[in-house]
Amino acid sequence: MALIVQKYGGTSVGSPERIAAVADRVIRWRQKGNDVVVVVSAMSGETNKLVALINAVNPIGSEREKDAILATGEQVTIGLLALALEKKGQPARSYTGGQVRILTDGAHTKARIMDIDGSAIRKDLAEGKVVVVAGFQGVTADGSITTLGRGGSDTTGVALAVALKADECQIYTDVDGVYTTDPRIEPKAKHIPVLSLEEMLEMASQGSKVLQIRSVEFAYKYDMPIRVLSSFDETDTGKSTLVTREDEVMEEVSVRGIAFNRDEAQLTVQGVPDRPGVAYQILGPISDANIEVDMIVQNSGSNSTTDFTFTVHRNDYHKATQILARTCEVLGARAWEGDESIAKVAIVGAGMRSHAGIASKMFKVLADEGINIHMISTSEIKVAVVIDEKYLELAVRVLHQAFGLSS
Ligand code: ADP
Ligand code: ASP
Ligand code: MG
Repeated sequence: MALIVQKYGGTSVGSPERIAAVADRVIRWRQKGNDVVVVVSAMSGETNKLVALINAVNPIGSEREKDAILATGEQVTIGLLALALEKKGQPARSYTGGQVRILTDGAHTKARIMDIDGSAIRKDLAEGKVVVVAGFQGVTADGSITTLGRGGSDTTGVALAVALKADECQIYTDVDGVYTTDPRIEPKAKHIPVLSLEEMLEMASQGSKVLQIRSVEFAYKYDMPIRVLSSFDETDTGKSTLVTREDEVMEEVSVRGIAFNRDEAQLTVQGVPDRPGVAYQILGPISDANIEVDMIVQNSGSNSTTDFTFTVHRNDYHKATQILARTCEVLGARAWEGDESIAKVAIVGAGMRSHAGIASKMFKVLADEGINIHMISTSEIKVAVVIDEKYLELAVRVLHQAFGLSS
């Protein structure tokens, strides 16, 4: 008997009919002799509604209270799915993150999972029940409800699969796998049957929201393959994508896919005295405020001053500008400026390790379209650039075409 963890996203549980379809699929997997643990997201649109309510009442209020609100969407879905299973004759039991005891740190709205107690789930499975767990949420050691960041149900799914030593971790969504880029932006995007966890990690960290980055980090760290499938294929035999260890990926291509992200904003401090400790003085207060920094560029300028540019999530932009204004005064910097209308585009592929000239080809393709590059960041298997947001879709399409990814 195998243990399967299945995660269903918002669209997949977006209506009573979709929830009934999920129940049918879960029962099919049970009937094939598997134990099944199901992780569900809030019904599509529900978390956005909760965010809007928070913003209408007190957008700068306590993050602990925000989490108490944000976590309610998933609580509805677990109950509904358990009821749907029960109606179809399959005993089931729902759990919130706190009831499982998905223990997290206290970083409200972007908490990290520290530990999962699988004992209650194992007991239910042994009694023939299907266990339904709320995604996206956990609890701190002192009992406060936390959430794991947008898209966090993926992470609940993978973390549970790891904790329970599941045989398979299936992520059901509204596409039948991972594509060479977001098929909503580029209809010529091609389906990828198998890709490595390393490549998916870069795709996700560069903005491909088909899997939350932390879910891929978990899978990578604990060597748990992920299968991405469509919940709209009722045959269980359609296409899917297996995200797995690199040595199991047969085909090596130079560029696997194009990722992009509109959620960042750029901040620049101009005319900072060029002396040791400046980067720390600028970014220390930012990180103390729990703001994650993505790209960083420092140019050594003239007159022993330097310009320092970095990007943060757009949600953190206003908080970051306030901190930066204070830092500017302390450092005696000339000025600072911010830009919220930027976007990041990245090409990703394990084959870049052995293929030279990929980055320069990317720069030429963008230059030919007159697209100016603000920042560049590279790793072994990706090249990412920051450009003006208005060129994003154009950049994705021309790169997709130029690297031979279009179908
Ligand atoms: P869920 O609610 O099931 O978690 P998400 O909306 O979070 O679903 O993720 C699925 C979406 O991810 C797709 O509808 C697609 O638009 C988007 N997406 C972005 N990049 C990719 C990619 N490279 N391949 C497939 N889908 C992608
Ligand atoms: N419901 C949460 C969100 O919308 C978590 C998830 O869908 O994964 O971000
Ligand atoms: Mg998602």
